[in-house]
Amino acid sequence: MKLKSTLALAATFALGLPALPAAAQQKFMTIGTGGVTGVYYAAGGAICRLVNKDRAKHGIRCSVESTGGSVFNVNTIKAGELDLGFAQSDVQFNALKGVGQFKDQAYGDLRAVFSVHPEPFTVLARKEAGVKNFADFKGKRFNVGNPGSGTRSSMDELLGAMGWKMADFSLASELKADEHGPALCDGKIDGFFYAVGHPSANIQDPTTSCGAQLVSITGPAVDKLVADKPYYAKATIPGGLYPNNPNPAQTYGVLATVVASSKAPADTVYQVVKAVFDNFDEFKKLHPALANLTPEAMVKNGNSAPLHEGAVKYYKEKGWIK
Ligand code: GLU
Repeated sequence: MKLKSTLALAATFALGLPALPAAAQQKFMTIGTGGVTGVYYAAGGAICRLVNKDRAKHGIRCSVESTGGSVFNVNTIKAGELDLGFAQSDVQFNALKGVGQFKDQAYGDLRAVFSVHPEPFTVLARKEAGVKNFADFKGKRFNVGNPGSGTRSSMDELLGAMGWKMADFSLASELKADEHGPALCDGKIDGFFYAVGHPSANIQDPTTSCGAQLVSITGPAVDKLVADKPYYAKATIPGGLYPNNPNPAQTYGVLATVVASSKAPADTVYQVVKAVFDNFDEFKKLHPALANLTPEAMVKNGNSAPLHEGAVKYYKEKGWIK
């Protein structure tokens, strides 16, 4: 028995190695996303699904990793431990310029691949919290987001603009996105902030299970941020998108983008871009937050870093850029 299995193993090795054609030699590629209930994780899954469809041709095996979010993804790409990652457009801008949370650490090798869905800053309150606008959270228990998330960096910028400190909340918790909904419905926090595309399972769950309420983020600090920063725009979360929330919420937000290092192989990035845009109708159907995307906007908007050369190659072939 033992001899037989040893022989079988030897046969596998002998046959397996030289028989692999060049294209089947696998290259592994990982995309950094966010929490599993967010949109990055689903959008990353959609990209990988389309890349992996043509694996026999290009040999790339694409997989997604759930992470702490935008800032983590950029830092991990920089460290050479992720190939691609999702990053909010404000985080992409800050990393490139060395400002905000990347102060004095400009990442000149950061490259944009394309932008994706809008991410309006989304605040949910406990039904019983008696909150109408974001400013009503003063003195309440609020989740500001985990360090490493883009959510948190945008939250910090808003609090700075409002002249608030963490101590203005009775509790400023740092739960991850996958934890804030359950914490809200369990009555452990009164509200949370999340930069996310819509619709998202992360918002669907607490609005369904405990009637959590969307809260507007408006006022002079927001007006000034939107006027001053190139990556912010006003946004509306439509009424009726989520259960128990018939009215729209007024807010502002950013775009989600996909980024890489200039050191990522041009062929790998080319294959990713090709998989998405050659199968664009399918891509848009893989998550409702992707439904309204257009190639024109994805190539142009929200990308403050230069486009990656592998992306440039595809966009030139298509005539989308000069
Ligand atoms: N924009 C969020 C962040 O970077 C993640 C959103 C998502 O996972 O869809 O923190």
